[in-house]
Amino acid sequence: MKVPVDADVRRAIKPVICYPNETLPKPNMEIYRRLSERLTKTDETIIPPREARCFTVSAGSVFRITSIDGPQVGDLNLWNSKNLSECFYSGKTRALHGTHLSLGERMWSNFPTLRPMATIIEDTLSWYGIDEFGGAVHDVIGTRCDPYTGNLLKGGHYHHCCHSNLTRALADHTGYSLHDAEDYVHDVLNVFMCTGFTRDTGQYFMKASPVRPGDFIEFFAEIDLLGALSACPGGNCASEHSSDATHCYPLLIEVFAPDPKVLEDWIFPSVNGYDRTHGNL
Ligand SMILES: [Zn+2]
Repeated sequence: MKVPVDADVRRAIKPVICYPNETLPKPNMEIYRRLSERLTKTDETIIPPREARCFTVSAGSVFRITSIDGPQVGDLNLWNSKNLSECFYSGKTRALHGTHLSLGERMWSNFPTLRPMATIIEDTLSWYGIDEFGGAVHDVIGTRCDPYTGNLLKGGHYHHCCHSNLTRALADHTGYSLHDAEDYVHDVLNVFMCTGFTRDTGQYFMKASPVRPGDFIEFFAEIDLLGALSACPGGNCASEHSSDATHCYPLLIEVFAPDPKVLEDWIFPSVNGYDRTHGNL
């Protein structure tokens, strides 16, 4: 390996933030705070261990994901319920907010809309921060556990990875075939999962989630949403996923309707303003 003479100088260059986000439209947290004080529960769904379920949330409503019986992580997909081709864009959300999401941060949709789909308005794990290993909770780096990577690395056909759970749940909800539904499954928000990258090798790591029964994360739906949540076969993701080896627990999803008065100051997110000519005028 030939190392240039100025290698240390090049390495010592200070990084710059790729997407300074000071100009991102700021969520009005005051509206969300007032909203939380006057919510009416309209629906709830229990996600069984190693399964996924769909749920719908109208724009302006709130949904909450709660750990109930034991520490468990969940893999969350979101679509525009009126147009499933608009869905959560994990990669751009990561570029805008960082590797893990918390209070006041948003789940952004794909191109060409690139608009907030949901805003995190409560998070009982926001105290965790970034630990000594570089780990944090609610990541947008881990894609989702899936049977293809499992097959590549270990062979076999495990059918209860989050990818397959989400596929079955979406097929059940929409009536699509499994293969058609699978095309809509996308990279997730890893709810309650504690992850990071190792400092020495840069590898994706997971560790036991700090979530405990009663902990929850709450979202404001900025547009009409279809969601799907999988109770990951990794359980609290302390040791392994993509197998039946780990003890898993259910997750609870609750949906709440707002007091319409509080929403009078809320602005429905418009689609992205780029003209889409791509230079061809
Ligand atoms: Zn999973």
